[in-house]
Amino acid sequence: MERIFTIYKGVKLVSRTFYCEGAHSSGIGFELNAYQKECQELARNFARKEIIPVAAEHDRSGKFPWDIVKKAHSLGLMNRHVPKEFGGIGSSVFDGCVVAEELAYACTGIMTALEASTLGQTPILIAGNENQKRKYLGRLIEDPTMLAAYCVSEPGAGSDVNNVKTRAEKKGDEYIINGQKMWITNGGVANWYFLLARTNTDPNCPAAKAFTGFIVEKETPGITLGKKELNMGQRASDTRGITFEDVRVPKENVLKGEGAGFVITMQTFDSTRPLVAAGAVGLAQRALSEALKYSLERKTFGVPIIKHQMVGSMIADMAISVETARLAWQKCAWVVDQGQRNSYEAAIAKAYAADVANKCANYAVQIHGGNGYNSEYPVEKLMRDAKIFQIYEGTTQIQKTIITHSLLEKPTKG
Ligand SMILES: Cc1cc2nc3c(=O)[nH]c(=O)nc-3n(C[C@H](O)[C@H](O)[C@H](O)COP(=O)(O)OP(=O)(O)OC[C@H]3O[C@@H](n4cnc5c(N)ncnc54)[C@H](O)[C@@H]3O)c2cc1C
Repeated sequence: MERIFTIYKGVKLVSRTFYCEGAHSSGIGFELNAYQKECQELARNFARKEIIPVAAEHDRSGKFPWDIVKKAHSLGLMNRHVPKEFGGIGSSVFDGCVVAEELAYACTGIMTALEASTLGQTPILIAGNENQKRKYLGRLIEDPTMLAAYCVSEPGAGSDVNNVKTRAEKKGDEYIINGQKMWITNGGVANWYFLLARTNTDPNCPAAKAFTGFIVEKETPGITLGKKELNMGQRASDTRGITFEDVRVPKENVLKGEGAGFVITMQTFDSTRPLVAAGAVGLAQRALSEALKYSLERKTFGVPIIKHQMVGSMIADMAISVETARLAWQKCAWVVDQGQRNSYEAAIAKAYAADVANKCANYAVQIHGGNGYNSEYPVEKLMRDAKIFQIYEGTTQIQKTIITHSLLEKPTKG
């Protein structure tokens, strides 16, 4: 395979990938290519050396991991999907997932803080024009303290995006935005937001035409940040509500065109749900590693607890789950990288990997006995961190709805 190297911030990286280097005539291969192995190693070393040692402290303090963001930026672990012409490395979704899984192994709170910026950027990657990409993606590449965020959910609308009430009204060359967003990851630390607002007030207007996507600079007058929310887990990540009161946004910051926002919002998930699934697998893999280690060290009735069949069975179940969930994210990332629609595969991977993360974290706590319930060991944090995978970027119930709809649309999928 031809390998083209590029220097990114002093780090040598291969520019673009083919999925399985070991692919043979059957068309299927399960080996990462050389570039993906390099990315994996880079992210793994970074996660082990820089994130694991500070993860518990960030969980306790809730402090945003700026030091890690800056180091990750300098290594090319941030903004990986930005195309080369705008200063990035143009990573595929698959390659991004390889990195996300490694970061998540160390701490999914910190992984979410890093990946939420990818979520905020994705609508611009999908629908931004050249100027928007150069200005807003370029800024993220240039400055390690610049992050993006994705403002869609509201206090009254999460799953039901069509119920978004934030309103954007056109006045001359500007739009005036009023409304309230909720649960915005990176809300307090991002430099700019992707924001979805209703531009057509006709209740009969179909969702696919009623909403518009905007790029909104955080420093625009009229934006008020809520307090950082105290969540069950992933506490290093900054989640908050944001109020928009007569916020003036130039028409140049509309993505694609008025009315295109809902479709952009949904298309975004096809690229970002594979990353969420990969993150969930990273957490599940960590739970398995911790449980395996503990079950070899801890003895009861004169033997390491892994020798007890019921403990061994939990470990085996975790391994089955991790391996199969990884295949699920790989499949959905591969499909979207082929330029095909992957909503069905991404929904399967996201729902399944989220459940796997929760099961594995739960088993890891169980295998640790009393120690598992205590913060001296990392597994109670895994259990708290795991839950959100079943909620953000579309709940498990919404993923299952997407799967059912896909089956009804295309019965051959079944
Ligand atoms: C920590 C955190 C970070 C987040 N980050 C972001 C972010 O960066 N940007 C952003 O825009 N949003 C973000 N969110 C919001 C998140 O995407 C929503 O919370 C999620 O989509 C669920 O919406 P909701 O909370 O309004 O729940 P609801 O939509 O009210 O759902 C409540 C329950 O009803 C179920 N339900 C709802 N509708 C259906 C249906 N049709 N069929 C079956 N069951 C249904 C749901 O599955 C759920 O169990 C974040 C949330 C959290 C907690």
